[in-house]
Amino acid sequence: MKERVELTGLSQPEIVSFVEGLGEPAYRGRQIFAAIQHRRLRSFDEMTDLPKELRSRLNEAARASSLKIESRYISSDGTRRYLMKTNDGLPVETVFIPEEHRDTICFSSQSGCPLQCTFCLTAQLGLLRSLTPGEIVEQILIALNDAYGDGVKPPRGTNLVGMGAGEPFLNFDSLLKALRIMADQSGLYIVPNRVTISTAGIVPRILDLAKVSDRPHLAISLAAPTDVLRNELMPINKRWPLEELLKACRAFEQTLKPGERFTFEYVMLAGVNDSEEQARQLANLLNRHSLRAKVNLIPHNPAEPLPYRPSPDDTVTQFKNILESKGIHTYVRRPRGRDIFAACGQLAARQETLNACKELNTVGVGN
Ligand code: SF4
Repeated sequence: MKERVELTGLSQPEIVSFVEGLGEPAYRGRQIFAAIQHRRLRSFDEMTDLPKELRSRLNEAARASSLKIESRYISSDGTRRYLMKTNDGLPVETVFIPEEHRDTICFSSQSGCPLQCTFCLTAQLGLLRSLTPGEIVEQILIALNDAYGDGVKPPRGTNLVGMGAGEPFLNFDSLLKALRIMADQSGLYIVPNRVTISTAGIVPRILDLAKVSDRPHLAISLAAPTDVLRNELMPINKRWPLEELLKACRAFEQTLKPGERFTFEYVMLAGVNDSEEQARQLANLLNRHSLRAKVNLIPHNPAEPLPYRPSPDDTVTQFKNILESKGIHTYVRRPRGRDIFAACGQLAARQETLNACKELNTVGVGN
């Protein structure tokens, strides 16, 4: 049977040409794009302004959705974490974080992840597969529908962070395509300025992103101030060590436009990377490369069976003070959804995800 086309991952012009291929006028394509991306309808049967006969042809040739919510957890602070499943049964994790003036949705770019960061549970899944543009977009449609009701206009703006499962820069083309679809004014209308993508340091893609004009904000996950420690915590460092990574960051920083944000993320692990000496090493490293990007200190999300604990508050404060004394703007990120294991940057591959994958016999594939 012919594979049905995933319309959530097509731009408006692509949907127009798809419906023209079915012998329909262009305006039907624009109508369908808005139904999926603006009205957040997830089946053709709900698009009752389309002729019944067209809806039944669309059902045969295309899909308006492909993810399903498998489980949902709501934190006492309002944060919602979703475990979704793809059509082929793979886990996708997404977090919705309500805030006073805007909401943030943390989305995944891959199911599992091929990188082996030792402080991250997702790493234990290995790479299951990269997500399609449609599966990236759909996480946002589903989270907004769940938080506000189907198709209901969100009361606040939406920010996106690509800090969920997976390394976004190992799914670069699908990521950029998804972001362009979401930026469309007649759809979700979430512009790149509202989006931050975090990478573990895939140097060639950092340099590629430097050439993209409609790009999101960039964040680099550092986690260590020396190669010896970073090799251990983030083995991708053996491929692109700090010197090479920070040179690419410097090149990227030189292309920044006014108002564009570029940050370093530093997960704080008690007794591992949070000493005063390590704070000085980090400041010297960034200063030596003339980097002005600010540093976000991220509280670690403790999770069995990971062998790490979060740094105590006074250690985090001292680390921040040392960085600031050396001219590095530093912020401490407030933990959200801790009771539901919803930390961004290390979305929890909790037991239920691991079990789901074991059933599929897929734990540990990839890499
Ligand atoms: S921290 Fe990010 S890049 Fe590293 S293993 Fe986890 S999901 Fe992958």
